[in-house]
Amino acid sequence: MRFETLAVHAGYRIDPTTGAVAPPIYLSTTFERAPDGSYPGGFVYVRDANPNRSALEECLRQLEGGAAAAAFASGMAATHAVFQALGPGDHVLIPQDAYYGLIKLVEDLLARWGLVSTAVDMTDLAAVERALRPQTRLVWIETPSNPLIRITDIAAVARLAHGAGARVVCDNTWATPMLTRPLELGADLVMHATTKYLGGHSDVMGGALIARGDDEFFQRVRFVQAKGGAIAAPFDAWLVLRGVRSLPWRMRAHCDAAMTLARFLAGHPAVARVHYPGLETHPGHAVAAKQMARFGGMLSFEVRGGRAEAMGLTTRLRLFTRATSLGGPETLIEHRASVEGPSTRAPEGLLRVSVGLEHPDDLVDDMSRALGAIS
Ligand code: PLP
Repeated sequence: MRFETLAVHAGYRIDPTTGAVAPPIYLSTTFERAPDGSYPGGFVYVRDANPNRSALEECLRQLEGGAAAAAFASGMAATHAVFQALGPGDHVLIPQDAYYGLIKLVEDLLARWGLVSTAVDMTDLAAVERALRPQTRLVWIETPSNPLIRITDIAAVARLAHGAGARVVCDNTWATPMLTRPLELGADLVMHATTKYLGGHSDVMGGALIARGDDEFFQRVRFVQAKGGAIAAPFDAWLVLRGVRSLPWRMRAHCDAAMTLARFLAGHPAVARVHYPGLETHPGHAVAAKQMARFGGMLSFEVRGGRAEAMGLTTRLRLFTRATSLGGPETLIEHRASVEGPSTRAPEGLLRVSVGLEHPDDLVDDMSRALGAIS
């Protein structure tokens, strides 16, 4: 089945009791036991499993081509579950350029519980190889990365990691399974902040993990899910499942508009650099062309001058909302350095854009007018 068809049908069934085509939301926290002690519907207690969450997990499992999936309350809860399935003294590699929350979680919180980490430039395969140790259990990939939009060669890193006996987890939030298939490229686990493109409407928070094999490690992840309790609530699971149905068509529009905007920005004298893997000048373009069906809806660019010029530009834009996050219908623009604080790796003139579903020409017109004041 093709991806568009899967996105509409995976995890869905007509409700057997009412014939409802859109699934009901099961808010019940508990499920009745039969006289013989069994649970006829297969559900016991909402933290362990719930029909809406199970439907979402089945949908995401199919979309990523995995053996099993688990849905969480947020992308960070899903991320945390992976690391909690490791043990004290285990070593992990994380990308230098990664979602800020991942770096904070690993370096500021999990280090206190005995997790040892090394931040590596994942685009430098020799650096990845050097950083691997006998205790390395896991290599975390995020591609395209945040906020410099770097591209990591998933297959190459997976080969190195597997050679050293480590698992590979790929944060596929930005690419989505529509554009990149990490499990087919050798990753062992895929992570999603479903808060972003999968939910797709800036109105629900969630996270998910999809595993290539339903192995002992993933059983531990599921244990963290059920006993740690950071699960996707029924309504949230329902909203993400609904969002997924239009994912392929939304992603096409995000990609088209991002490419148009990136080309415009690359030709503008007030812009020093554009980070978008669809541009032939991007250092990760060849790898992106190999492992992505399209180049995604996220870009960043550096305004000539620096912080004041970048912040000033955001106040003149009318269609670009100044807000964090990504993957919704509305275009968002963000000055990452001021959001991340003193330890940021983002250049001061850098603005990150989540390109929405507006007409690309309207976005270019708005940007052109707002940039005019700089050049
Ligand atoms: N991974 C990436 C790439 C993200 O952009 C984000 C959030 O922005 C997360 C993970 C964390 O997701 P959440 O905010 O749902 O916890």
